[in-house]
Amino acid sequence: MKKTLTKAQVKTAVEEAFSKVKNLKGGKNANYIPFLANIDPDLFGLSLTLPDGEQFNLGDTEYKFGIESVSKVLTAILILKEYGAEGVLQKIGADATGLPFNSIFAILLENDHPSTPLVNAGAISACSMVTPQGDSDAKWKKIIDNISDLCASPAPVLDELYKSESATNFNNRAIAWLLKNYNRIYDDPDMSLDLYTRQCSVGITASQLSICAATIANKGFNPVSKKQIFAEELAPKITTLISSVGFYQHTGDWLYTSGIPAKSGVGGGVLGVLPGVFGIAAFAPPLDEAGNSVKAQAAVKAVMNKLGLGVFNGDQIEIAD
Ligand code: GLU
Repeated sequence: MKKTLTKAQVKTAVEEAFSKVKNLKGGKNANYIPFLANIDPDLFGLSLTLPDGEQFNLGDTEYKFGIESVSKVLTAILILKEYGAEGVLQKIGADATGLPFNSIFAILLENDHPSTPLVNAGAISACSMVTPQGDSDAKWKKIIDNISDLCASPAPVLDELYKSESATNFNNRAIAWLLKNYNRIYDDPDMSLDLYTRQCSVGITASQLSICAATIANKGFNPVSKKQIFAEELAPKITTLISSVGFYQHTGDWLYTSGIPAKSGVGGGVLGVLPGVFGIAAFAPPLDEAGNSVKAQAAVKAVMNKLGLGVFNGDQIEIAD
């Protein structure tokens, strides 16, 4: 069915979602990375970007928080650009693990079968794939430039977060070397892990993330910079990856209740993509037990439910002035 929404309706839905969720309690900041444990738990931002670049921003949408796992989506885009959809499928895969984001068990279970660039193992492997092989500085430049391109503005590494995470990432070190054991890492494991840790430590705003989400929703065309960042045919591949594992072991429940493919990070960010319609992002530090922001989830879900939208609804959505 064809469904027309006005910009005013979308704006109202974002405002209502923000007010409804603002005082929601529950969840805890990630504490396995010391820096994240100390972020103000009351920060909260909600941002929606339309295909023409217009944004609705509410709350702390200019606060730079740790992008963490949401960065996995951005670097997945980079390796899709470099290796194509088939190359990424062969080298990493596109399967959900059904297990927590940092699961070692998933690697042991699927050592003959690749998983996805959107869990820690696949994301470290993705960093190892970024070209040119063996050149950490050149690889990093590609990763960070790709983040700026997708977000239409630069994003700095939060040095303290990088140090905090580097000093405590013992589980990820085990993952990197286990990948080496199974020939699922394609460059030096320690270097690949360091690139991954650095990309997770990038400070991003909810406004930037919603521009990135809108770029994916717009088939690679960034509505703010007006540049084509990746080939149109990669957009459904990216959204598929997000749909299948974006909320880790809660992904099915999330998609079932919200209707929007979204990716979370332990810094409290959520990036949601409604293909052809809009990009949305929310940020609030306290997380549920799977590592997904309690308020960000609730806010994105409230916008979707209020507007009666869902990626599987079969509607053709038009947003009119
Ligand atoms: N840097 C975090 C880690 O590797 C990211 C996890 C996440 O956001 O889910 O543990």
